[in-house]
Amino acid sequence: MTDGLKIKALSVDHFRYKTDGSDWGTVGSIELARPILPGQKAQVKIEWSYPLSRRSDREGQIDPQTFFCAYAYPRISVYDDYNGWDRLQHVGRQEFYNDFNDYNLKVQTPKNYVVWATGTLQNAEEVLLPEAAKRFKSSFTDPDVVHVATADQMKEGNITAQQDWNTWHFTAQNITDICFALSNHYVWDAGNVVVDAVTGKRVSMQAAYKDGTADFKQYVDWGKYCLQWFSSKWPGVPYPYPTMTAIQGFADMEYPMMVNDATLEDLKDSRLTLDHEVVHTYFPFYMGTNETRYAFMDEGWATAFEYLIGTEENGKAYADSVFKAFRVAHYISDPSAEQDQPVISMSSQLSGVGYGNNAYVKPALAYLALKDLLGDTLFKKALHQYMANWNGRHPIPGISSIHLIRLRSKT
Ligand SMILES: [Zn+2]
Repeated sequence: MTDGLKIKALSVDHFRYKTDGSDWGTVGSIELARPILPGQKAQVKIEWSYPLSRRSDREGQIDPQTFFCAYAYPRISVYDDYNGWDRLQHVGRQEFYNDFNDYNLKVQTPKNYVVWATGTLQNAEEVLLPEAAKRFKSSFTDPDVVHVATADQMKEGNITAQQDWNTWHFTAQNITDICFALSNHYVWDAGNVVVDAVTGKRVSMQAAYKDGTADFKQYVDWGKYCLQWFSSKWPGVPYPYPTMTAIQGFADMEYPMMVNDATLEDLKDSRLTLDHEVVHTYFPFYMGTNETRYAFMDEGWATAFEYLIGTEENGKAYADSVFKAFRVAHYISDPSAEQDQPVISMSSQLSGVGYGNNAYVKPALAYLALKDLLGDTLFKKALHQYMANWNGRHPIPGISSIHLIRLRSKT
């Protein structure tokens, strides 16, 4: 582990604040010299350094020449009308709560390192040699998987532009976070899939991995399938972003337009893991869910959809047995209080099995039961209404009843 992020300089509207953030933990605050009024804009500038962890988990060094860089920049906390500034310290297990932003990301790397990131690569022709750039471009229309970079091509220096340093430029719009990976030996596959039959929108599916990894060799095909499936069946909303890139690592974790998955020998399990991480695009990222406090609001949906796509990929009997064994077994067979706490309990207050049950199993079962009770048509109508209401915002459980109480207390 490292000492974490250090702030070198911080200014708001050119007023410089004296702090290096060393006593902040994961959240800190400054008292503004001049208040920012409602509707007013302010320019915040931050210079910082971030030492990447050598121990690879949700971020860090994957191998001596492969790195996954996430949660690596300081950001402004969410301000919502439910809790004011979000000042909950991050203690490791929980996930995140972020606002929607547009990003311009530039990553400078030595030659022969390829960068993969959230968003769209803007300067493929500058950072790739002409033949590699041509293959990459063709992957946006080619019906088959394109091998943009093979192990030999990477080894021979036949992929990136051969200047000392290359600057990789990515942009991403209206999304809650950004991250990137780089390697000088991972192979790179890419393909595309139509996710919206009405508009014909195509999404680029990419994968970067150690040459010869059995499950990752299929990741682009699997990704094309699940992007199309999630877009047309459940949740049945066209994939809202232009790219999805999977990196072989150790995290089994979702990021906007990115997945970092461990390789698994069981190909069905591996594919379900990819499915699960990809469908997180909708929950939490499309919705701006507060995962830190209410993990059930994204993990519950991801677990329910993982089961539904699993029934089509592997048949109902297999999907049922996997779901019961992996997701449900302990919770159902152990009636102790720790196993069974109210789903709405704040995730940041839960530990042990209470967290996992509340985040994954119970809400997934509830969503699936509700789907059976209402029928697919009505359930989907309600789901789509919920998604339309809260896309780009921050849904909070119980907020409507709190509003009602407040309204009543005013009358
Ligand atoms: Zn998940």
